[in-house]
Amino acid sequence: MALAAAERVLAQERKYEKELQRLIQALKAKEIVIDEPLVWDSFYFATDAHRGQTRFSGEPYISHPVAVLGILVEYTIPDSETLAAALLHDVLEDTPVEPTELLAFFGESIFSLVKGLTKLSRYVHVQDEVLRVQNLRKFFFETVHDLRVLLIKLADRLHNLMTLDFLPDEEKRKRIAQDTFDFYAPLAHRFGFYRLKSLLEDEAFRNTNPGAYESIVRRLTRDREKKDQRIARLKHQLEDTLRRKYPEMKLVIRGRFKHIYSIYQKMTEQGLSFEEIRDLYGLRVVVPTEEDCYRVLGVVHYIWSHIQGYLRDYIGSPKPNGYRSLHTMMIADDGDPIEVQIRSFEMDRLAEYGVAAHWFYKNGTALNQQSKDFVLIREMLSSGDFSQDPRHFLEALKMEVFQQEIFVYTPKGDKVYLPRRATPLDFAYKIHTEVGNRFSKALVNGREVPMDRELRLGDSVEVLTSNDAEPQPYWLNFVKTPSAQFKIKNFLKRRDRALAIEEGRKVLEEEIVRNGLHDMNLLRPS
Ligand code: MN
Repeated sequence: MALAAAERVLAQERKYEKELQRLIQALKAKEIVIDEPLVWDSFYFATDAHRGQTRFSGEPYISHPVAVLGILVEYTIPDSETLAAALLHDVLEDTPVEPTELLAFFGESIFSLVKGLTKLSRYVHVQDEVLRVQNLRKFFFETVHDLRVLLIKLADRLHNLMTLDFLPDEEKRKRIAQDTFDFYAPLAHRFGFYRLKSLLEDEAFRNTNPGAYESIVRRLTRDREKKDQRIARLKHQLEDTLRRKYPEMKLVIRGRFKHIYSIYQKMTEQGLSFEEIRDLYGLRVVVPTEEDCYRVLGVVHYIWSHIQGYLRDYIGSPKPNGYRSLHTMMIADDGDPIEVQIRSFEMDRLAEYGVAAHWFYKNGTALNQQSKDFVLIREMLSSGDFSQDPRHFLEALKMEVFQQEIFVYTPKGDKVYLPRRATPLDFAYKIHTEVGNRFSKALVNGREVPMDRELRLGDSVEVLTSNDAEPQPYWLNFVKTPSAQFKIKNFLKRRDRALAIEEGRKVLEEEIVRNGLHDMNLLRPS
């Protein structure tokens, strides 16, 4: 069947056949095992189905599914079914192919992925804003069943944004770009697909604010050569020192540039000029273990001088979405700042591929629907009463799900990240187990507050401890972080156990005394 179909592929379709060949090679180079015949079957099936259709760019339609697959190959770790579904993702929606046909040809698993994607596009292609937002919510419920649908949808969205210039309807262009900011990029962020998220934002930004986009790109590229040379020089300097100090350590150092939209965000949110942004570019050091990360940090701080207040230990306290790395800001020997990020290979993989890295590395293939993130988001979506006005739902969704983290300040001015609605007690446990266990009272912005008061973004929090204080069972009723709950429970368990042992020993001692057995050395010396 695949061969018969292949013979009918028109000459212009050969180009995409070659492109797919190249992408399959790229997968092999990454040592990702795939079912090649399945991918080719999907390609020829989709090519047949879309024959005669063109994109706004004038290219044959099949260029689009192949590009979506290309994005997945480059920025994720796809399995064979994801690749097949990526190639087939528009056949139910845009071609005469019947669902029964697709099901018979590719089986239940791939069919349900494609069906999921088809449903989504019906939900989002609506003019009315209220309806569209409502549809995005439905979209979410659909997606949550299988994250592979989300991955394909994000890649689909990215390619549509990249080719948005060809879309004649300006209003539609703006809408697609805005939905990306409101929905898809935060979603990608929540699941840790950082690279996809950055690309989505940059492409959406190019469409919503072309002037600002161009201006940043111009300034970024202006003395790019000089920056590249500086990065190369600093990289060598650091690499040499590290190799001399730790000859055995396997390490990779890369230069990295901040993405365009995040530069714009920093400029607008912090009122900075382009020239004032210090982490436009930097170095990323990747090493085998967590300990190595701190060793490298030591060396970095030894050869250059660090700028106070910029050191972030996301290894000791990871971001809520699991991101881990050390970030520090240095003044290099040329007197200019350079940001250095340090992480292990595993942290790097996670940062690049998000939660998908976990699933693929742990299970080999399918994404795990029982994963913590799945369950968490599902619960949030089902618990909220968003039924009245869908726009409130979107607001709530953005607030609750995507920006569920707040930060507050320690008395020293360090930022501490907490989930929304966290209390001073959560803060105390986040600082240290003993600070939590000895919690006596909390000052928020200088004033004493009840220990269950909800903290707000930017609050300055101080915890006073007392040696007489200890965790109480009712604390469990209001702490919001799982780690605080765990620590309190742990303490109570240990205390109860100690009490039980003490009690048991007393009973035993009484029995021993009553039975006249003192001389047998049954009692521990006390
Ligand atoms: Mn598509």
